[in-house]
Amino acid sequence: MTDGNGQGDLLGNAVPAVAAAAPVRRVRVLLPLPLPEPYDYKVPPGMAAPPGTYVEVPLGPRRLFGVVWDDAPDAQAAPGDRVADTKLRGLVRTFDLPPMPAVTRRFIEWVASYTMSPVGAVMRMAVSVSAALEEPRALTAYMRAEGEELPDGLRLTPARKRVLELLLDGPPRLAADLAAEAGCGPAVIRSLADAGALMPVPMRALPRFPVPDPAASPKTLSGDQRIAADMLTARVDAAAYSATLLDGVTGSGKTEVYFEAVAEALRNGRQVLVLLPEIALSAQWLDRFAGRFGVRPAEWHSDMAPPLRRHTWRAVASGEARVIVGARSALFLPYPDLGLIVVDEEHEAAFKQEEGVVYHARDMAVVRAHLGQIPIVLASATPSLETLTNAEAGRYARIDLPARHGGASMPDVTLIDLRRKEAAPPARHWLSPILREALAETMLAGEQGMLFLNRRGYAPLTLCRSCGHRLQCPHCTAWLVEHRLTRRLQCHHCGYNAHSPDHCPQCEAEGSFVACGPGVERVAEEVTNLFPEARVAVMTSDTLVGPRAMQNVIEQVKAGEIDLLIGTQVMAKGHHFPLLTLVGVVDADLGLGGGDLRAGERTFQLLHQVAGRAGRESRPGRVMLQTHMPENPVMQALAAHDRDSFLALEADQRRAMEMPPFGRMAALIISGEDERAVDQIASRLGRTAPRAREDLTILGPAPAPLAVLRGRHRRRMLLKGPKNVALQPILADWLAQVEIPASVRVQVDIDPYSFL
Ligand code: ADP
Ligand code: ZN
Repeated sequence: MTDGNGQGDLLGNAVPAVAAAAPVRRVRVLLPLPLPEPYDYKVPPGMAAPPGTYVEVPLGPRRLFGVVWDDAPDAQAAPGDRVADTKLRGLVRTFDLPPMPAVTRRFIEWVASYTMSPVGAVMRMAVSVSAALEEPRALTAYMRAEGEELPDGLRLTPARKRVLELLLDGPPRLAADLAAEAGCGPAVIRSLADAGALMPVPMRALPRFPVPDPAASPKTLSGDQRIAADMLTARVDAAAYSATLLDGVTGSGKTEVYFEAVAEALRNGRQVLVLLPEIALSAQWLDRFAGRFGVRPAEWHSDMAPPLRRHTWRAVASGEARVIVGARSALFLPYPDLGLIVVDEEHEAAFKQEEGVVYHARDMAVVRAHLGQIPIVLASATPSLETLTNAEAGRYARIDLPARHGGASMPDVTLIDLRRKEAAPPARHWLSPILREALAETMLAGEQGMLFLNRRGYAPLTLCRSCGHRLQCPHCTAWLVEHRLTRRLQCHHCGYNAHSPDHCPQCEAEGSFVACGPGVERVAEEVTNLFPEARVAVMTSDTLVGPRAMQNVIEQVKAGEIDLLIGTQVMAKGHHFPLLTLVGVVDADLGLGGGDLRAGERTFQLLHQVAGRAGRESRPGRVMLQTHMPENPVMQALAAHDRDSFLALEADQRRAMEMPPFGRMAALIISGEDERAVDQIASRLGRTAPRAREDLTILGPAPAPLAVLRGRHRRRMLLKGPKNVALQPILADWLAQVEIPASVRVQVDIDPYSFL
């Protein structure tokens, strides 16, 4: 049924007094709301609104934007089901923009159907800044009118004189800037303009997006790189769908190689999208792009200021912005002529969006490429098992870059077995004597070291020595993490933070708290005590806010002003430090606990990436992993540089259990503030689960590992089935049997990556 706009009579603005003889023209308009389908509207006479047009429509008492959608296939078939012509409300106006391309519309529908999200909610991601639909307000600058003569009758006050003199040199300026410079009020400028002594010139508010120059400064590629680049450029020229895995060790030049594909797409006059996992961390990437192409690309991510966001959206929609680098949401922008997609670090978990519309940007990017009949390149040094399996099955082509550029060798990886007495750190310390000695040697040689621990703050747990009470987040099933630098306790799940208390909230003992376990701040403390002379920097997402702060530390490291860098995974990504020769991993086992099916794969990827920071140039690097389980296949693979046998083993295990990518999975997360209501719905879903089917496995309902998050109680269910069974229709039938009250939310997560 298409309804929801039948209030026209009430508001008195939709029913014409005299029915026109011409038949009513009807269009379907998709609204940016969690609605499963578009609503019908009437097109006023004289208005053109083909599919894709951005329009303003009434909805109840509101007005909002929408996109004219394509006719339903059965639009003419069942007129009885439709809202009567007389009840239809009319489009208010159309926006002066290129229509949303058909491929974007098909993509939105596809994502909605795959992720089981309302199509309107997916469209909302494509038009996430509705203000961008409006023509930006033109800013006006002023210059001196032609000729030396002043207009007749203009009295030259000192203020007016200053303004006119100022404009004798320099560019036209905004009224506000001119007034400030001349030390006068805006009325002075206005009166000069009114009298004709100043001429207004329209000025664009924000910089344009210059076209990157494919010939600006290309690198001379090595033999392997050339072959890889030629294969990619051929795929760009083919202008057909293809998916290619670009698999190469860190430092092999994958970026340089895919830049050649970007250059080719630019030469062909097309748009390019590069998806990066964490755009805020990629100042280095942007600089490299500017080095290669002469200008920076357009950026798209969640931290952009609204004016730039609007401006960028328009530039993408008009085709003016030619290369867009962005986080996952950039995938939904309405590109009129996308010719290539690159997904860099395709294995990264950050490509999975976990809230709202739950989707995996890498997987959806492949779908987008397919719908748009364009090539996609997936680049990684540690490809996901999903992508490798696709490559092995021949669905994706594969290009290997086996060697580091410039002959740098891979670092030597040693395992420090913390169970051995001589390797164990002293009590309440975290660095093994073996690692300490290596750090000392490195600094003595004038080289740099890096210590990696994927844990922010000082200590992950604080407890009371006298009663054992543990400080816990009031809103989550999580310990509070002590941050000594800011003197606060933080919940890393919901952001709650509080002053460290003076006495125990349970037994009231004073000064009884002890920190348990290490975070990066604590490792930094140990290092400073060991090497008081060393110049130490800590690199985490909370100590360095924003890409610039990060960039400053990176510059310092590059300039040799830092001896020891200590950090979390933000430090692991992409950075290239020529003097860095030692990487120590404080707790290599950290990611292996828990019931995550990808725990081993992820730990391998992360530690491999961290290890890849060492010895990127002529000086050989070494990596030391502190572990309690040196026999674990992840540790063995890292030490032996044997990624492929590790992945083969991992693949065998998952195949045997029909786990992804050899089977399908979907999760249901049932949550709400009222624990009883949540449990009730969870057990009802448990009872109605499709247990009769033998090819499906159903787990749960069970409390989620994060049983309470932001004050909401959470239960999980997991549905697992073979590769050739689509889970969505099964889920749809299942969910249709249980009425969900407004106080409980059931989130569907197709292909889950998080099991918290
Ligand atoms: P990856 O993306 O595989 O980690 P990069 O493309 O970042 O590798 O290359 C690693 C380093 O080597 C970078 O500093 C890059 O500029 C440099 N490099 C790679 N290939 C070349 C080349 N053909 N000429 C000059 N420098 C190169
Ligand atoms: Zn919390």
